[in-house]
Amino acid sequence: MSNADPLAAELAAIERRHAKIKQPGGLRWDFDGGYAANDAEGVGRLLASTDDVPRLLAAVEAVLALHVKQEEPVRSYGPGDSCPQHLMTALGRRNYATMHKCPDCRYTEYFVCEYCDRSNDTWPCPTYAAISSALLGEAGTDGH
Ligand SMILES: [Zn+2]
Ligand SMILES: [Zn+2]
Repeated sequence: MSNADPLAAELAAIERRHAKIKQPGGLRWDFDGGYAANDAEGVGRLLASTDDVPRLLAAVEAVLALHVKQEEPVRSYGPGDSCPQHLMTALGRRNYATMHKCPDCRYTEYFVCEYCDRSNDTWPCPTYAAISSALLGEAGTDGH
């Protein structure tokens, strides 16, 4: 395989190890205490798969360390949010610095991801939402 992605290959190996353990007959019932591996190869696979767990957690935690909710909200000014003093110019310009201090201009506050930094996105960002959805299902995607 040329251009092999070592990360994709490792994820595939992790998936294969787990699939072999979970396949019918991958483990046998041990009357002394639950399921057991069938042979030395099975024991090795079971231990390796168990060791995959902290590695996968470290990978997810590394991503989540980047994608964090910004503490301060960002302000977004919509087309009708300017007060009469701060209407958009004919060139479509607005003085956001003065609008920011103006008590009469309206705005919407958004919490964005510190890493993604896409100003009109609301938290959670797509990366956080995807991880949350994979681990918690749809109910866990609110990011709190
Ligand atoms: Zn993000
Ligand atoms: Zn204003």
